[in-house]
Amino acid sequence: MQLVLASGNKGKVKEFNHMCQEEIIPFSEVMEPFEIVEDGETFAENALIKARTIYEKLGEGYLVIADDSGISVPLLGGEPGIYSARYAGEGATDRDNLDKLIEALKTKGVPKTEAFYTAAIAVVGRYGEYVVHGWMFGDVIDERRGDKGFGYDPIFIPEGYDQTLGELDRVIKAEISHRGKALRLAKPIIQMLLNKEKR
Ligand code: IMP
Repeated sequence: MQLVLASGNKGKVKEFNHMCQEEIIPFSEVMEPFEIVEDGETFAENALIKARTIYEKLGEGYLVIADDSGISVPLLGGEPGIYSARYAGEGATDRDNLDKLIEALKTKGVPKTEAFYTAAIAVVGRYGEYVVHGWMFGDVIDERRGDKGFGYDPIFIPEGYDQTLGELDRVIKAEISHRGKALRLAKPIIQMLLNKEKR
């Protein structure tokens, strides 16, 4: 049984491998990478779309894991939310998206405001489909600090900390992050499905 991650996002692949004991390979290692249309209306729907699409191509013998995640800023009506990866337009880089969010904060005239990350992790295999969520609350600031992590991390300060995720160690991020929390919920499901396969 091979665990496959339905993502080509290098930041996510790195975090999954850091947080998981099981070996998870990105789907690009078992097939030609291709574009998946994420047209769901929630993080959960998009995570399921990604996991299902890859599972349908690979079939039995694989357990597919997908993460759909993003950052929401209540002051901006929840933006960028599920559009976090394409906030600055289709094909936008992490840097473009980050710059756009900083610009939106500056336009509002707020140097710091509440924000939260959401991660939905979907697990799809021959025994069914499962989705779990994790959240991380904190603030976003209108300037970049640190170069660790990825995406919006340089402007996100988790609740209870003074530094951004761009400055904090990845071990701390794994403990408190939306992805870390969702993955801890997904692990027993993955284990249960691996055990079923062995029977
Ligand atoms: P997805 O790959 O469609 O789920 O897009 C997720 C997007 O949300 C990424 O491109 C990042 O910009 C952002 N994002 C999700 N999780 C994180 C995180 O842990 N740190 C920083 N940005 C994140």
